[in-house]
Amino acid sequence: MKIAATTICAALCCAISMSIHAQPTLISQQSPILNDASHPCISDAMYQIIEQRCSTNVHALGLDHLGSQRNNPVALNWPLRMANGLSDNSYYIISAYVDQDQSSGSYKDWNCGANTYDTHRGTDICTYPYPFYKMDNNQVEVVAAAAGIIIDKHDGEFDKNCVHSNAQANYIVIEHADGTFANYFHMKKNSLTSKNIGESVAVGEYLGVVGSSGDANGPHLHFEVRTANSASAYKDPFAGGCNSLNTTSWWATQKPYTEPAVLKAQIGNVDPVLASCPNTETPNESPCLQPGSDARIYVFLRDETQGMVVNIKIKDSTGHAVLSWPLTSAQTQLASIYGWQQHLPTQQGSYTLEASYNNTTSVSSFEITTAQCRIASGSTGIEEADNANAINVYPNPTSGRINISSTGLAAGTYNVMLHDMLGQEVMQDDMIVSGATAEKTMSVSGLMDGIYLLSIRGNGTTLTRKIQKATF
Ligand SMILES: [Zn+2]
Repeated sequence: MKIAATTICAALCCAISMSIHAQPTLISQQSPILNDASHPCISDAMYQIIEQRCSTNVHALGLDHLGSQRNNPVALNWPLRMANGLSDNSYYIISAYVDQDQSSGSYKDWNCGANTYDTHRGTDICTYPYPFYKMDNNQVEVVAAAAGIIIDKHDGEFDKNCVHSNAQANYIVIEHADGTFANYFHMKKNSLTSKNIGESVAVGEYLGVVGSSGDANGPHLHFEVRTANSASAYKDPFAGGCNSLNTTSWWATQKPYTEPAVLKAQIGNVDPVLASCPNTETPNESPCLQPGSDARIYVFLRDETQGMVVNIKIKDSTGHAVLSWPLTSAQTQLASIYGWQQHLPTQQGSYTLEASYNNTTSVSSFEITTAQCRIASGSTGIEEADNANAINVYPNPTSGRINISSTGLAAGTYNVMLHDMLGQEVMQDDMIVSGATAEKTMSVSGLMDGIYLLSIRGNGTTLTRKIQKATF
């Protein structure tokens, strides 16, 4: 049996202990196994309805001629992204791949593993941690994996389902130029793009917010690709030894089978509240802590792998680790939560919490002070404008250089600035824009690890985006 995306989120939350822990005490989380062929993401009846609607729309839109290049499918980009304000290291877990075993009662994924469930035709990507908090705050967006035309779209359905009920999902179906289809299911109510059936979308364009509409028991995206408008024409975008549906990957860059990573590390005065579905979780992060107090530190892992080591450090403003401790993974599981109670230093000042796992690092900034905390509520204390997605920054997090690009800026000279979490400017430079896309590279290797706000200002425009500096 395989875990549904939704099940992971919901059940992890239910099972976690909320008691205060001795120092440092480990909370480990086993993922439950609940999903099966009797409780699929999409029922056969729903598949039939969508297929009929798509068939009608394809004909009405005059797109019957597409499909001549079906053996050379368009390259897919990742169908999710972090929205404004989310500065976690990562935000998703793949909880079920396509079932490659066509016989009933058995299943296997493209890599000959068991990360799927019987008859599953898509890739389930679960938002994590805090899936309902993320949904309520629109923190994870569904975006077009490839350019195409909206062939079908349905919105307005309830989006906090916790059990399978054959409910209608909020979804979008896109047909690509080569006649292949991509289906995006389970989105948040009233979050879908305002574009209509028949309109084009670009790769990476906003489609909606991850939700729990339809046959879902927690927020996740069911992403499904096909070579034709038929449920039986489904393919697996991942190429591998046990993919019998297609020999080549459909991804522009295929992700590895597992991605062990620290998704998030947080610090606060109290434990997070991981309420059960459909209640919204309360992260209880706090960037302002009293000297010598007992903090609660939590680390969230994806694809925890037995034998790998989590390194947790609290660093002062000079980058010196004043507290550090390791944890060696004793198990392999999709999603894990670890928590500690940790006695903080008495020295007041700015600090960072860093957690590293498998060459990924999560960084969050906080202050130890008896005075009024200078950091606003929230994990970082600096806020992006609503236009954060107008700036592309990569890599982010970074240990050295950042490449900045933005389209649509008027020609002229702009000021590029970095501010730390207290609002102090730590770097600035000019950027001259003459063409359609503005590009700039900056070195941040001299900055201490933490969260910074990148601003592009000039000609009546201000764009902002959070970036994370981390030493990998
Ligand atoms: Zn699914």
